[in-house]
Amino acid sequence: MANPATKSPESHLSMFDSVLARLNVAAKIMNLDKNVQTILSSHQKKVKVSLPVMMDNGKVQVFEGYRSIHSTILGPSKGGIRYALDVCDDEVMALSAWMSFKCAVANLPYGGGKGGIKCDPRAMSVGELERMTRAYTKSMSDIFGVNKDIPAPDMGTSGREMAWVLDEFNKIKGEDCPGVVTGKPIGLGGSLGRDSATGRGVMVNVLFALDRMGLKPNAVTAAVQGFGNVGSHAARLLFEQGIKIVAIGDHTATFYNDKGIDIKAALDFTAQNNKVLKGFTGATEINADELLTCKCDVLVPAALQNVITEEIATKIQAKLIVEGANGPTTAEADHVLVERNILCVPDILANSGGVTVSYFEWVQNKMGYYWSEEEVNAKHDINMKLAFESVWHNAQEFKTSMRMGAYITALKKIEAGIKLKGNY
Ligand code: NAD
Repeated sequence: MANPATKSPESHLSMFDSVLARLNVAAKIMNLDKNVQTILSSHQKKVKVSLPVMMDNGKVQVFEGYRSIHSTILGPSKGGIRYALDVCDDEVMALSAWMSFKCAVANLPYGGGKGGIKCDPRAMSVGELERMTRAYTKSMSDIFGVNKDIPAPDMGTSGREMAWVLDEFNKIKGEDCPGVVTGKPIGLGGSLGRDSATGRGVMVNVLFALDRMGLKPNAVTAAVQGFGNVGSHAARLLFEQGIKIVAIGDHTATFYNDKGIDIKAALDFTAQNNKVLKGFTGATEINADELLTCKCDVLVPAALQNVITEEIATKIQAKLIVEGANGPTTAEADHVLVERNILCVPDILANSGGVTVSYFEWVQNKMGYYWSEEEVNAKHDINMKLAFESVWHNAQEFKTSMRMGAYITALKKIEAGIKLKGNY
């Protein structure tokens, strides 16, 4: 499957246009204050930097690095760092705005930020990645801060990169600042449960939605697109709940088995196979495009943005979509899902488990006292239930979709924050 850029081929909208399209619809439904809408339609700060990095071949390559701060109304900005070839101004603007809404939906004392580097991390050596990450951190050392802007992993980055960010930041500041970044390795102040948190959030949202639909986990099937951090943990946790996973896929291969895929076997396979699914023998290989429209009850897009276009939406067979990825559905496809009565738990709720446990990591760093994985998971599940219920309530009250219910939930909180703080 081609890698959709920030704009889907069928869409007239850029990614940030898609954010504004949803913001404007929600604003109209809930009668949002016009000034608040104006404030949230732009970003507080955007930074673009050039990062000269010595490559292994002895030549310098200059990478583009970005950081966008959408809002700090409810607290310091929070958001991941993405390494991908698609990274650009528009993408980080969209992702940072979604972080503002996501943190508000999840009831966290944060605003929204996002950053990234335009690069192909799979084509770089560990040494090149480390030098690039340190150069990026140095460029962002006045942007990042424990109480200012707190990055975390996103697509193409993991605890390893967060450890480099922390180390470089500490060296520049001359002190230990573990709370400046979340998603760190446990040995450096990371939180137990953070690695699987986004997948866990997807799993509990699936269970909450199935319950509202009157369906039992052991009576449904699911397809999961993406087998990285979010997709692999979501697939494993759904599998552990008795849901039959009929399709999985990553950028190397896609598989279908109507009898169910042994997810533990798939995880063992990827652990031995450079983290990719190519060559897995526990199911039949299918075309990547077929995963989204395959026969299943629950669809979890957990890889890329803009994959559920208007056209794909007309062909989806699932009754429930739970968005593990950020922005997997184009704004134009929203109405198709509503008209076809497909329940969609939107990204700003469904994948908020990651930032929720990032918040717990930050709290633990501030206290210098650490919780067990059971405590973290229990706190996560309680928080997610409250978030799901608020979104469900607003969707019912305003007679709208869960996506709009989530935007309304977020906008009510941010609107209250803006009014309390006031303007110039
Ligand atoms: P990751 O880099 O760990 O994994 C990405 C996965 O997507 C990999 O399995 C990759 O093979 C797959 N993929 C890439 N191109 C593909 C293609 N063309 N077709 C099918 N699969 C493809 O990234 P991640 O952290 O799992 O993030 C995935 C999504 O979830 C992103 O949208 C990210 O913004 C979002 N998200 C991540 C977190 C987090 O905590 N990591 C939190 C919230 C949201």
